[in-house]
Amino acid sequence: MAHEVETYPTIEARIGLIARQIGNTPLLPIRYLHANPKVKIYAKAEWSQLSGSVKARAAFNIIRQAVAQGHLHENKTLLDATSGNTGIAYATIARELGISVALCLPENASIERKQILESLGVNIIYTSKFGGTDEAQEVAKELAEKYPERYFYAGQYTNDNNWKAHYYGTAEEILKRQPDLNYFVAGLGTTGTFVGTSRRLKEVNPDIQVVALQPDFALHGLEGWKHLETAIVPQIYDASVADRHLEISTPRAYELIKLLYEKEGLLVSPSSAANIAGALQLANEITEGTIVTVLPDNADKYSEVIKKIL
Ligand code: PMP
Repeated sequence: MAHEVETYPTIEARIGLIARQIGNTPLLPIRYLHANPKVKIYAKAEWSQLSGSVKARAAFNIIRQAVAQGHLHENKTLLDATSGNTGIAYATIARELGISVALCLPENASIERKQILESLGVNIIYTSKFGGTDEAQEVAKELAEKYPERYFYAGQYTNDNNWKAHYYGTAEEILKRQPDLNYFVAGLGTTGTFVGTSRRLKEVNPDIQVVALQPDFALHGLEGWKHLETAIVPQIYDASVADRHLEISTPRAYELIKLLYEKEGLLVSPSSAANIAGALQLANEITEGTIVTVLPDNADKYSEVIKKIL
């Protein structure tokens, strides 16, 4: 007797299938960029999951919790303001769930990003280039308030399910592989990766030092914090978590893109290189210990930058 093939699994079943493709990323040793064998550096290759970046974790958790609570379903549209990895992650995941996505973007967002999002079926709502991402956030919020029956506002800068994805996911994966780590370093965008991972690590072992990293100028993916004093600090940021802040210069991050490629065989994004720059700075200050960081994505979406560096 032939078995019946289930062609239309429920949304919950499809969420279960997607869950298998989120997280559990490899923790790679960084071996050849520093000389002290008593200092170990490990970096989580976050491109090794659905949609190719660390933002798969936050986007999936935001969507999963919203579906579970009945705020998001096939007849609603997920709305947020982002042209970056979160937008790509929302679009990839929502598509598999039959949920539509609308994103508010400043009209001067890069053509490369617009094309990726359009090819994933995103409805792009353009905002003025003068208002930048702040205006795009405002417009998204206003639209969601005006049409609550149409939109679910995902709000990655304010949604606790962003940092919780790292509290329950990233941190637990690190603890499983390197339970004796001494330092965790991560750059600040929405701050979800840093806040969520650090909170859990420090809860398990308060001696772990957590270091928040910021670029000197907005660097791809680390724009959440933007220009230090003038920025709107993301609502999910908790200033009491970081033991220390490090600033990384753009030239140093770019130098690390080249070094990681030449010495470690890793072709990564600017924010990944900035994290490694931070880890190396720490490595130079200590005589022994284990440092863990993340590589938010690889170089695929940064061809213009990579062309100039390599
Ligand atoms: N790097 C890249 C490439 C990113 O897209 C992001 C997210 N904006 C980050 C780093 C920062 O991650 P988070 O939002 O969790 O702080």
